Amino acid sequence: MGAISDHCLFCRIIAGGIPSRRSYEDDRVVAFADIKPAAPVHLLVVPRRHLASLADVTDGDRDLIAHLVLVASRLGQATCPGGWRLVVNVGQEGGQTVDHLHVHLMGGRQLGALG
Ligand code: 5GP
Ligand code: ZN
Repeated sequence: MGAISDHCLFCRIIAGGIPSRRSYEDDRVVAFADIKPAAPVHLLVVPRRHLASLADVTDGDRDLIAHLVLVASRLGQATCPGGWRLVVNVGQEGGQTVDHLHVHLMGGRQLGALG
């Protein structure tokens, strides 16, 4: 795990080695502001444990994934009362650029159709 932690951008952010604007954290997940926001509210909700993508999730990760989505939903309700969007990009063609599972929480303006 040490090597992953050293080389993964989000593991380094979670460990505090790279600064971020954190809005929530608990024993399993951390939420911080996206450095290049696509909406007035744009948070990334990530598991503390390194999981490369949603494609790597197994049955043993059910509770963690449920918690991740629940936290993202609670943060959505708190920060975007008019509604919000959760997005998980998976793999290169899915637009994933950081190989540590993350849920994008976006809102604070009228969002358009998915493209
Ligand atoms: P992906 O394209 O993998 O779904 O999303 C990765 C997200 O991470 C992008 O929206 C990008 O702006 C964000 N990001 C990349 N580098 C950093 C960083 O150093 N700090 C923060 N807070 N966000 C980052
Ligand atoms: Zn990682």
